[in-house]
Amino acid sequence: MDCIFCKIANKEIPSQIVYEDDKVIAFKDLDPQAPVHFLVIPKEHIKSADELNAENCAVIGRIFEVIPQIAKELGLENGYRIVNNCGEDGGQTVGHIHFHVLGGRLLAWPPG
Ligand code: 5GP
Ligand code: ZN
Repeated sequence: MDCIFCKIANKEIPSQIVYEDDKVIAFKDLDPQAPVHFLVIPKEHIKSADELNAENCAVIGRIFEVIPQIAKELGLENGYRIVNNCGEDGGQTVGHIHFHVLGGRLLAWPPG
């Protein structure tokens, strides 16, 4: 399968990894939108939040378990934003579910 985030998870494409375990990997976004901007993904290929179900959703809990640990390590004491873009209208450009974590500056709300 030609999936860029599967390739990152398999180390076929280099990335700046900030966290890894058997189920999850987190790495810095190539085009950061904030002083701290990393992505957290399941190693298993799941296309988007729209494809989550009872069988595959446990890893999402793991992702939300590790995000505060990584955020603390990267100095986001003042808060951060977790973003999941789902599908075309949601602005998803990579078809492997991922959670953006952004921080290090005051973020505007609502998004455009
Ligand atoms: P989306 O728009 O799908 O929510 O987010 C995809 C994100 O992946 C974008 O923020 C983009 O900068 C990032 N990205 C795309 N290709 C690569 C890559 O090869 N390496 C890394 N580290 N980030 C990537
Ligand atoms: Zn994938």
